[in-house]
Amino acid sequence: MLLLDVLYRELVDTFEKIEKTSKRLEITDYLSNLFKKIPSDIIDKVVYLIKGGLHPDYLGIELGIAEKLTIKSISAATSIPEEDILKKWQEIGDLGTVTEILISNQTKEEESKKNSYSIKKPLTIEAVYMVLGHIAKLSGTGSQKAKIQILSYLLQYAEPVEAKYIIKTVTGKLRLGVGDMLIIDALSIAFAKKTDRNVIERAYNIYPDLGMIAKVLAKEGLDGVLSIKITPGIPIRPMLAERLYNIKEILEKIPLSAVENKYDGIRMQCHIKDDIIKLFSRRLEDITDQFPDIRMDLKESKIRDAIFEGECVAFNQNTGEILPFQEISHRRGRKQGIIQAIEDYPVCLFLFDCLYKDGEDLTVKSYLERRKILESVIKPFDKIDISNYEIIDNIKDFEKFFDRALEIGCEGIIAKSPDSKYMAGARGWNWIKYKREYKSELVDTVDLVAVGAFSGRGRRAGTYGALLMAAYNPDKDCFETVCKLGTGFDDDTLMRLPAKFEEYRLKEIDKSVESRIDADYWFVPSVVMEILGAEITLSPIHTCGLGSIKDDFGLAIRFPRFTGRWRDDKNPFDATTTPEIIEMYKLQLKRFK
Ligand code: ATP
Repeated sequence: MLLLDVLYRELVDTFEKIEKTSKRLEITDYLSNLFKKIPSDIIDKVVYLIKGGLHPDYLGIELGIAEKLTIKSISAATSIPEEDILKKWQEIGDLGTVTEILISNQTKEEESKKNSYSIKKPLTIEAVYMVLGHIAKLSGTGSQKAKIQILSYLLQYAEPVEAKYIIKTVTGKLRLGVGDMLIIDALSIAFAKKTDRNVIERAYNIYPDLGMIAKVLAKEGLDGVLSIKITPGIPIRPMLAERLYNIKEILEKIPLSAVENKYDGIRMQCHIKDDIIKLFSRRLEDITDQFPDIRMDLKESKIRDAIFEGECVAFNQNTGEILPFQEISHRRGRKQGIIQAIEDYPVCLFLFDCLYKDGEDLTVKSYLERRKILESVIKPFDKIDISNYEIIDNIKDFEKFFDRALEIGCEGIIAKSPDSKYMAGARGWNWIKYKREYKSELVDTVDLVAVGAFSGRGRRAGTYGALLMAAYNPDKDCFETVCKLGTGFDDDTLMRLPAKFEEYRLKEIDKSVESRIDADYWFVPSVVMEILGAEITLSPIHTCGLGSIKDDFGLAIRFPRFTGRWRDDKNPFDATTTPEIIEMYKLQLKRFK
């Protein structure tokens, strides 16, 4: 065996240990020990495999073989009829575990028959990665058949426990509960000092490819990581805003505020390198193909090396009116009918930041300097404009600006600190949002993750009566329940809920969910929904911020209502966080005092 030939079993043993615990520190320990043992040349592949894929997320390359198809491979590899596998799957619920059981149940005789045509060698990480990569690349006619064949061949080489994880990986069901922040913790323990973690995190924020970062760190140490730079084509993790409920407090935080319209659309990061233009969403997906109109405009701009950020909104070109979010949502996620959609739902991109230009990282420059550069390079085109801003230091002008923003169809304003740098991946007080809802009695909308559901009764028989919603707690890396959501759905959406959540269904509560409520159905935390609530109260049954305000009490959102907006642009870790809900609760107390 070559030095690089680390056994796949090594990785699988770590997966097994991780699956058996929910303690963050233990998982970090398992991972850092693994990283120390892995040669630097393949550590990137190990990181991708831990995350359940083969490449950084932003490339959007999915291994995803449908589970039904995988059954054919398992059947071919084990000679067990497909119906029997299907039955076992329905009984057990996890196809990986089913495969493990079936392979380990095989008689010695069958084993030796199998080995007569395949000389069984232990699987290496390299080999598994290579074969899975091959499967991922297959497309077009005949590709399904080839995928089944290759996968069954791989399974014949696998030990039962290895087969379990191969199946989980190819079906996109490897859910170890290992978030990116945990991998960063483990990397810093394995290869740097704990205090150097922020250097690794900064690299991740401007170049979110943890595999590549791990490799650079393992090979070149922290100096290597420090030399990782913003690169057009690689999305940057977005800077995010805090919220406040009154203008006075905003001006106390930022006495001289650069106030901008808060457009209600889709955040878009535009990367230009020579003739190549890429557009990334808030969750760093490549959405270029969905917006050829924006791409064309950027192409005509003659800019050759830059990264901009803006909000893309639906727009009435005749009246200059900004249209509600629902309109632009028709442009998202489309694979077909894009040309027609461009006509039916015209858009305008309001750029509000310039993060990089002609080889220079502008995130380290102040807001005002970046704005100056933005204005000097962007001349409004057909579908591209610049967000306006005004420096404001008093409540009266602030209110005027806010009212004007609402009048033209914005959802509020964002106050920005003129001296602030662009803090990639961070939510901070250098950007503060103030929205229309804050003026009413209602709390702000929050984006919560559906973690479970309850069976419907009466009119709702056959569908869900309510969803169990959770906030994300970044400190504990878990999801904490905050309300049951049963209002705001139209009949059609309501009836389709079980089908929508089918792919996320679990037999038991997900390891990353903290709940005191026993739901009828549990989900992998994946789907983020926008919810408007009436107030936040202390709750003995919800776990959000448990004990942070009062012993043994969490926080709950009262009278939650679904706004109709599925936050497909957010992954569960981008959902409203527990500290945000605690902060909202405290602000609410102040407001109503
Ligand atoms: P929300 O759900 O309120 O849009 P969010 O969690 O997506 O919030 P925040 O950072 O809290 O993100 O709020 C800022 C968001 O507002 C950005 O992500 C961006 O999509 C949008 N936005 C609209 N106009 C602007 C602007 N002028 N400057 C910055 N962000 C803007």
